[in-house]
Amino acid sequence: MTESKLTKNCSTCGAVLKLSPENIVITCEYCGETYDVNFTKVAGHKMIPTKSQKEVRANVVEFLKKNRTDINSISIDEVKANYIPYWIVPFKSHTEYYGVERGSVTRYRTKTRTVTDSNGNTKTETYQEAYQVTVWRDRSGNFSRNGNQNVMARKHTAFYGFSEFNSTLFLENVVDFDFNIVKDANSEFINAEVEPHEAQMEAYGDIENKNRAMAASRLHKLVRCDSEITVQNPLYVHAPLWSVRYRLNDKVYKVSVAGDSGKVVKGEVPITMKQRIINYALGIVLILVSAILGTVGINLSGVEDTAAIGIILIILGIIGIGCSVLPIRKAFKMQLEKSSMKEIKKDRRVSLKAAKKALRGGK
Ligand SMILES: [Zn+2]
Repeated sequence: MTESKLTKNCSTCGAVLKLSPENIVITCEYCGETYDVNFTKVAGHKMIPTKSQKEVRANVVEFLKKNRTDINSISIDEVKANYIPYWIVPFKSHTEYYGVERGSVTRYRTKTRTVTDSNGNTKTETYQEAYQVTVWRDRSGNFSRNGNQNVMARKHTAFYGFSEFNSTLFLENVVDFDFNIVKDANSEFINAEVEPHEAQMEAYGDIENKNRAMAASRLHKLVRCDSEITVQNPLYVHAPLWSVRYRLNDKVYKVSVAGDSGKVVKGEVPITMKQRIINYALGIVLILVSAILGTVGINLSGVEDTAAIGIILIILGIIGIGCSVLPIRKAFKMQLEKSSMKEIKKDRRVSLKAAKKALRGGK
């Protein structure tokens, strides 16, 4: 590329746009217009709406309170949104597969037995006994799967909590992109490093793998699997992940918050000296109690009448020793990692259901 091809003026506001290997698709920092690598406008740029900075901050405080952090002693240094680029690739696919299925059939064999009738006479009679035989059958099938495949538009991201954020991201919930929102929140805006065509190819591979896995799950052994996949033009979307930094006793801790739900996806929580001592004591007590249970159990198990109780006590003792690892490990840690992932996943399921319902209703 020559120098002239690397920069160009925004056709909407005249500002200078600069291409680089990390900025293949660029959004004008002044007016929010988006261009691809050939400086052609990218239509239909979308974003995921975010909770406000105030709400994010309040949720982090709530999260820390829940995890017993002394919130009166902390200072929140940074609450910043990072707008991460994605391509949503709409696709249609049809899969034909062939393989071997494991089944069983019922067979019968003739057996004889001795029976006594009401008069006390015994005689021998024959009867049919059922038994199961494993059989292998050829099976072919097909299914269609349409939808959207999300592709991250950066090759590497080092954001704290990113994989948690990514795993629950619900990209269907988009609105038109508005650069003012990004600017107002003093956010970090990230351009795409992956072109639309590259995103389509990556989506293609992901869809094919998923189809293969789905076919394989229906059979004992998958022999052949062919997917016919068509990918459409992708939609450019920015999703907000908030990074929050707070300080306690001169140490900095990180918390990441998903912008759409406002919930913590991952957060560092300090453990106080008091909590560490409690955990340590708890671990020691657990070990002692387990040892006593085990010893009593061994003695009881030697006597026939109490053998069952003895074995139960031995098992309890072993479980107790195993469980003591948890508080002991906590006692030697300075901080913990917590999240509200369960809540987020639950919310996602609810909104997915609602979206599906709306789709059905709309038809
Ligand atoms: Zn512009």
